[in-house]
Amino acid sequence: MVEHVTALLPEWIVPVHPSGEVHEHHALVMHEDTISAIVPRDKLDDAFPQAERIELPGKVLLPGLINAHAHSAMALLRGLADDLPLMRWLEEHIWPAEQQCVGPEYVRVGTELAVAEMLLGGTTCFNDNYFFPDVAAQTSIRAGMRAVVGIPIISVPTAWATSEDEYFRRGLAVHQELLDEPLVTTTFAPHAPYTVTDAAFARIRELAEEMDIPVHLHLLEAAPEIESSHQQHRCHPIDRLEKLGLFNDRLLAVHMTQLTARDMDRVARAGVHVLHCPASNLKLASGMCPVAELVARGVNVCIGTDGAASNNTLDMFAETRLAALLAKGYSGDPEAVPAHLALAMATLHGARALGLEEEIGSLEAGKQGDVIAVELDRIETLPVHHVVSQLVYATGRHQVSDVWVAGRALVRNRRLQTLDEQRIRRETGLWQQRLARVDQSKPS
Ligand SMILES: [Zn+2]
Repeated sequence: MVEHVTALLPEWIVPVHPSGEVHEHHALVMHEDTISAIVPRDKLDDAFPQAERIELPGKVLLPGLINAHAHSAMALLRGLADDLPLMRWLEEHIWPAEQQCVGPEYVRVGTELAVAEMLLGGTTCFNDNYFFPDVAAQTSIRAGMRAVVGIPIISVPTAWATSEDEYFRRGLAVHQELLDEPLVTTTFAPHAPYTVTDAAFARIRELAEEMDIPVHLHLLEAAPEIESSHQQHRCHPIDRLEKLGLFNDRLLAVHMTQLTARDMDRVARAGVHVLHCPASNLKLASGMCPVAELVARGVNVCIGTDGAASNNTLDMFAETRLAALLAKGYSGDPEAVPAHLALAMATLHGARALGLEEEIGSLEAGKQGDVIAVELDRIETLPVHHVVSQLVYATGRHQVSDVWVAGRALVRNRRLQTLDEQRIRRETGLWQQRLARVDQSKPS
């Protein structure tokens, strides 16, 4: 079989690694699913005469964005209930709706809606945490998108599992089924310290080591979590995780808005990865993640949107800009999280946390062809003094024109290539009606 060779010819290429580098008049060459070279345009014909050339004038190529924390199927709950305190929001709206609706079909439609939104916005990989991870994985695979699905563990019965044992059994079966899937890997996804028992955490530690997968956990999202840990376990959540052997470089800690300086030193020493979700933290008034101080200690910080119910978008361009701005405002230091670092947090750092740094996160020979093209020559991003600054501070996701995952075009000229947009609209509309009925019929 003849290998298919594609040469993408944009105005600029931002590989993210080496940091700060911008290539002009270069081509990115892919052999099938893999990036094989970034070469000057005038060398292309000699080096790769067989390449199919795709001209991308006025556009910049960068690695696909990595959404480090999502609950993709919750896209169906977008805007169902807003402007409420966390517990009222959960107890009066989100949980009742989920109790009545979550099942394979709900997760398929919700995940497909989320995948479509993320692809159109330049996200090529997402780290998911939801029930029916088998359905989320298959939905993502059908769309050609890359995903990391969590094995959910929570001490509450749901449509997915009714006992701790069943959560493990079903989750391990999903992991097994996905072992040969090139686009999907797994994590353990215990919900949060206040909803997971010591026994379950101990089992997760053992299995995660054996299976060599990360542990994806909501941690220190808001202040009450610390108080409740002292009451239930007589210690701080970090102490508890340390005792259980989970506070290490396998841990992907989501939120982390309640950190003292001593906690931050411990995070850095342990090599814990921090998944920062600024919009969700602001919207639920949970607190602020001290990103500048974590970065100064050498902590790997990456960016996620959280679910669309608490954001309310899955827009990684908006999230990255917010992360950069918030880090400056919160630390009082305008030099904190400069543009090139913010972009790395949205790409390479996410890959590192997910154990995928060898495959994705930057445009380098040997890595997978997860690439996006962004129209930078539009009015709203002119003039282009500094490409990376424009990408972080001025670009909107509507400027993403083309998206490739593992060398396959999933979006061309803003059109989804593997998903049926009309069907997604229709099916989402049906769930909208059903969810509205459930939300309105609940006792107040
Ligand atoms: Zn979350």
